[in-house]
Amino acid sequence: MTLINSVILKCPNCSHLLEVIELQSFHLFKPEMFSDGKIDSTSLIPDVSEILICTKCNTDFWREDAICLNPDQDSDPGALPANQPSGLFLSFNSDLRLSISKYYNKLLSRGFADTYDKEVYLRTLLWHGLNDITRYKSRASKGVIAEQEGLLRDNLNKLISVYKPRYPEEVLLLAEMHRELGEFDEAINILGKVNRDECLSAYKQILGACKKKSVSVFKIHKN
Ligand SMILES: [Zn+2]
Repeated sequence: MTLINSVILKCPNCSHLLEVIELQSFHLFKPEMFSDGKIDSTSLIPDVSEILICTKCNTDFWREDAICLNPDQDSDPGALPANQPSGLFLSFNSDLRLSISKYYNKLLSRGFADTYDKEVYLRTLLWHGLNDITRYKSRASKGVIAEQEGLLRDNLNKLISVYKPRYPEEVLLLAEMHRELGEFDEAINILGKVNRDECLSAYKQILGACKKKSVSVFKIHKN
């Protein structure tokens, strides 16, 4: 069951009131999972980003850093709906898919992610955004592909340098980062440390892709 709630936040920059949606619980209908950990589900579930953009002053901020007003109140007549990155860059065109990645990269360059969790969240969004061009088979020019590959390499190297996997799924993701960089021996070495019982089909498929020396993101097939 999906419960969607709206809450009123105060923009940390200009103090304008903003209305944002929150998911209280959700159920994924026929989710599709990819090797980089992205899960696609039904469009009935709205995209809920931890990064918000003030509609009034255009400042980006973290949801957790904004003051939440009247959590019991459904709406406020003076509040504006807050923007989310996916709303501003929504497109299936490869150039525009690249622009959301460049936006995330710019946030990272200016130190927007100032904790471990925020950096991992933002670098994962950037990783998924760059892979979306390949994932959804967007037609892309050589220039877009070159830029996508350069950003992907840079982001994966930086993500690996900070990443501290805590769960078997995260160890699997670390192996996937190395595989997408073409570091197959390192990926296979890390796969050796995964508790296979918990993610067997993803484990087998990522190992298979390493053996084929494939670096592309792919859909995990359920056995
Ligand atoms: Zn503002």
